Amino acid sequence: MSEPIKIIVEKCVRCGLCVKACPFGAIEQKERKELPVIDLQKCTLCGACKEACKFDAVWMQEKAAPTQDLSAFRDVWVFIEQHDGVIQSIAYELLGEGRKLADSMKMQLCAVFLGSQITGKAQELIARGADKVYLVDRAELAHYQDESYAAVLIELVNRHKPNIFLCGASTIGRSLVSRVAVKVKAGLTADCTGLAIDPANGNLLQTRPAFGGNIMATIVTPNSRPQMATVRHKVMKEAEIDPTRNGKVIEEAIAETLLQSRARRIRFEVEREATMNIAEANIIVSGGRGLQTPENFAMLRELAEVLGAGVGASRAAVDSNWIPYSHQVGQTGKTVCPKIYIAVGISGQIQHLAGMQSSDIIIAINKDPDAPIFKVATYGIVGDLFAIVPKLTSEFRKVLGK
Ligand SMILES: Cc1cc2nc3c(=O)[nH]c(=O)nc-3n(C[C@H](O)[C@H](O)[C@H](O)COP(=O)(O)OP(=O)(O)OC[C@H]3O[C@@H](n4cnc5c(N)ncnc54)[C@H](O)[C@@H]3O)c2cc1C
Repeated sequence: MSEPIKIIVEKCVRCGLCVKACPFGAIEQKERKELPVIDLQKCTLCGACKEACKFDAVWMQEKAAPTQDLSAFRDVWVFIEQHDGVIQSIAYELLGEGRKLADSMKMQLCAVFLGSQITGKAQELIARGADKVYLVDRAELAHYQDESYAAVLIELVNRHKPNIFLCGASTIGRSLVSRVAVKVKAGLTADCTGLAIDPANGNLLQTRPAFGGNIMATIVTPNSRPQMATVRHKVMKEAEIDPTRNGKVIEEAIAETLLQSRARRIRFEVEREATMNIAEANIIVSGGRGLQTPENFAMLRELAEVLGAGVGASRAAVDSNWIPYSHQVGQTGKTVCPKIYIAVGISGQIQHLAGMQSSDIIIAINKDPDAPIFKVATYGIVGDLFAIVPKLTSEFRKVLGK
């Protein structure tokens, strides 16, 4: 098989622009006068080198043409995550964003709602912007199971052919849609923080942080449908409630075989330590390596209790086993967007900022005046956290009458 990309020797002037442009370090030019060499193991065929070359010296295989009739795929779908029948707020955020996308493409917004004894809640989804609700209300779907939920969704996607399919980047969402995407042969972009429609061709522009949050990458899946994306919690605004909206609830018939699962749910255990879910908290008090020991988190819990806040942590604190992973904020933890985020003894590395910098008010307490956290902080307190936190707790207690 011929190479999918190569440098045209006759045209290349060895300027090195392609080497600089490659975000994957896949092009090497040992000496200035030598021909650059593309490492096909590292190359992702992103085309950055071709775009950068002023001499038209990069040849790339034509992109594959779509193998499906893309025009047959219509509407914007949102997977409605529910736990024990309680619709999760990420679903409302996706309905809010989905509504905008559907309107800009003059398509319908459809909610896909799976569970048991949930029929009574379908109208709520219409009030939140859905034009249609595809409902599968079956006892077998009472609790989330990868196998049965994925099988039902694959069936519905093949039946109705959505153009766009959005799902929360939650533990369930990540596990579920990757299975669906593989089976329906669709592209999937995980962890999006921005979505828009390209007015030129109607493709979904799926933006997500890459390389540790240092760049924002916009991904398109132009040759396959549906265009599937998981979206981070708390980045999009929830859809407003409009009880006067009209829509259709469509009960979908599903074959028994699709509802079977080889896994059996034995019991559900709530994590002992988990207090308030930080992804939902309006105020978060977060601790980092500056706290020095797990016992010192008690000081943060006390402040959090007075403020009615959740307790967060940096990865350094979680990796040291001072607090469970469910409290970790950041690129590999939770994305949070509270009204107030109090960072205590956290330096503010880029991976931590990726999870909290869109908070409304950021208060940083750090003894190092040059700590990067102060660059994003609304208010900064430079000093020893062991002196400052107890004072804050006692003052808030007085002011709030607790
Ligand atoms: C791929 C990848 C993913 C990552 N994902 C995440 C993530 O999701 N979340 C995350 O948080 N990190 C993540 N990290 C780690 C990140 O790079 C940092 O290492 C981490 O955030 C540092 O945690 P920290 O700020 O608590 O610790 P440090 O960077 O050690 O900072 C401790 C801070 O405490 C201050 N301090 C010390 N004593 C006191 C005191 N007595 N009073 C006041 N201040 C004091 C210090 O001045 C310092 O600024 C990731 C890294 C990688 C490579």
